[in-house]
Amino acid sequence: MKCPRCQGELITEQYKGIEVDRCAKCKGMWLDYGELDQLEDIVLDEDEIKGSLMFRSMRGDLLCPKCQRPMQFFNYRAYDLELDFCDQGHGVWLDAGEEKRVLELMARRIKDLKRKESAEAEWAGFVRKLKSKSFSKKVKGLFGK
Ligand SMILES: [Zn+2]
Ligand SMILES: [Zn+2]
Repeated sequence: MKCPRCQGELITEQYKGIEVDRCAKCKGMWLDYGELDQLEDIVLDEDEIKGSLMFRSMRGDLLCPKCQRPMQFFNYRAYDLELDFCDQGHGVWLDAGEEKRVLELMARRIKDLKRKESAEAEWAGFVRKLKSKSFSKKVKGLFGK
């Protein structure tokens, strides 16, 4: 697959046990929906998801690496994160800068909460959540598909 941002090659790698496709050039990350299906489906907190996803009717400027259709984007409020996703259910795209920003936010939050987990572990959990089937269903529901 080609990177929707820079057309670089997407390389499959393991990130804390999660399979992701990372662009070798811009370091953005593509997450296929539902790859974890056989392993587990994350039980999502309905209220958390409802409160944190914000519909954006605008289309993004990226094309899905799987079907080449324009992706839409939505805002994940908890981290003020803008995520591009394919409304055909292929997956979600994260720019490298966004990933870094979320990691920093998580590090700060964990420090405040004086928790033992690392920001990386927290991030891995978040990535896992993004990939889960329940999450993709929620996003689809949000867009009325
Ligand atoms: Zn790229
Ligand atoms: Zn697609």
